[in-house]
Amino acid sequence: MLHRHRSDIERPLPRRRFLQAGGFLAVKAALGDWSDVAALARPPLDLLLVGGRVVDGTGGPAFRADVGIRDGRIVAVETLAGAAARETLDVTGFVVAPGFIDIHAHTDLGIFADNLADSKVRQGVTTEVVGQDGSSVMPVTDRMREDRRRSYQERYGIDVDAGNWEELFAALAARGHLTHFVTMVGTGTVREVVVGENDREPTPNELRSMVRLVERALAAGAAGVSSGLEYVPNAFASTDELAALARPTASAGLPYATHMRNEADAVEESLAEALAVAEAAGTPLQVSHLKAQGRRNWPKAERLLATIERAAVDRRVRFDRYPYTAYSTGLSSLFPAWARDGGTEAFLARLAAPAETSRLHAEVEEKIAMMGDWDTIQIVDVGAEGPEDAIGRRLGAYAAERGEDPYDITVEILTASRNRADIVGHGMSEENTRRFLAHPLGAICSDASARRATGPLSEGSPHPRAYGSYPRVLGKYVREERAMSLTDAVRKMSGLPAEILHLSDRGTVAVGKAADLAVFDPATVIDTATFEAPHAYPVGIPHVIVGGQLAVRDGTLTGALPGTILTPT
Ligand SMILES: [Zn+2]
Repeated sequence: MLHRHRSDIERPLPRRRFLQAGGFLAVKAALGDWSDVAALARPPLDLLLVGGRVVDGTGGPAFRADVGIRDGRIVAVETLAGAAARETLDVTGFVVAPGFIDIHAHTDLGIFADNLADSKVRQGVTTEVVGQDGSSVMPVTDRMREDRRRSYQERYGIDVDAGNWEELFAALAARGHLTHFVTMVGTGTVREVVVGENDREPTPNELRSMVRLVERALAAGAAGVSSGLEYVPNAFASTDELAALARPTASAGLPYATHMRNEADAVEESLAEALAVAEAAGTPLQVSHLKAQGRRNWPKAERLLATIERAAVDRRVRFDRYPYTAYSTGLSSLFPAWARDGGTEAFLARLAAPAETSRLHAEVEEKIAMMGDWDTIQIVDVGAEGPEDAIGRRLGAYAAERGEDPYDITVEILTASRNRADIVGHGMSEENTRRFLAHPLGAICSDASARRATGPLSEGSPHPRAYGSYPRVLGKYVREERAMSLTDAVRKMSGLPAEILHLSDRGTVAVGKAADLAVFDPATVIDTATFEAPHAYPVGIPHVIVGGQLAVRDGTLTGALPGTILTPT
């Protein structure tokens, strides 16, 4: 049912498309409507893409057409050879697709540190949807604002300061950015502003204030409400509270997007809760980065999709997913929250206390059992003092080689690194990942912030999805594994997210739409970023156009910063 392959074989321009394209103008002119003809006659185009194959984002078949752009809009999709244009690019052999809309992104404030952070735009992403996982930049209290200002000052030496949505958007415009941004409003942030970080119910008055903050965000242009129920303080929210906060989006038909309460042993119960929130609020549902974490939960994938398909009959239920089977986090995440309470020193003291050992060991083994075995945990960073020969190794194999217990080695690495060790958790199944990516109700996301191979955003070891998500889907899952057709993949990256977020003038290649375009070579496009060397750009995406301007030309940034703030229509 899910793996229906649509043929991507080149077809001649169908008659209907011919009429929509070149022939259409003649027909309209004959009928006395000269508007489009006049538009074409008005020289010159700002940009002309000649010789490409258009994959238009609707899921329909690819077709040959040139694309003309003027004043930030697509003004012609037809044969335009010889048309006057300020700049003409020969894109023969390439696909011209709508710019990709990264429906679950985390670039929120990063571009203040470096507005040339190009790891997204160089994947063909032209819009990032931020404010995810219950956490948005706004609203903010004076204290949160001051903490944020200080932390950016200390970390990057820059001043990030805004007190409301309008000031934030103005600050972004003043800074300038490569991609467009769309924002959600986070229910965790709203809770933090009104209730604080404690585990308690809001009073009726507080809940009213929280709802007003959501309404205020929507009025400012937010495209929905998000939650992140594995994070504090959003985790303290009840199902009723979430429904109350999601309800203001109902009349606009904008989504409630959720990082569910649990993505492992309780993933099915968590999906039921997400559906209950959407049902009570009367909103569409967007399940963020759908997964069934841990080997013993892999068989749940089919039931998760069946539940989503069933619910999608009555309400718009969609999900998104990134194209990797591994997540990335600290080694300490293997330990329960109580062990980490009080910060690094308290945590390391507990690891060293003989009285705690058997209980800690048992809880970590339980987590490992959920994942599958110790070889699902790969060490990627051990800080300055940890054992360097562990880097890149799977914990089970590494321990066996040394003839030691993997738990003891885990404690040793955490202690030596002063809790600076990072892991990649190979917790998801390849088969499920492919199935989620290919499912018609699923959009593609990166779940990452924009990074850059040099400068302040090149620090650390981010998950390679920050650089590789979109080319990986196009190269690995479409070309190499044929998990879905190219036209379906492009729709999941553009037309589908545009529809979910009511970005009605984006997401497809058609006359009158905003000129956000990704030009890629379907024969070579692929990611190159790995967990070991993540700061690596993809290949096969030569040109990216944002709002009619080339942001990337021949694989290089042009220096243009054409991004704007987009709001749903
Ligand atoms: Zn998340």
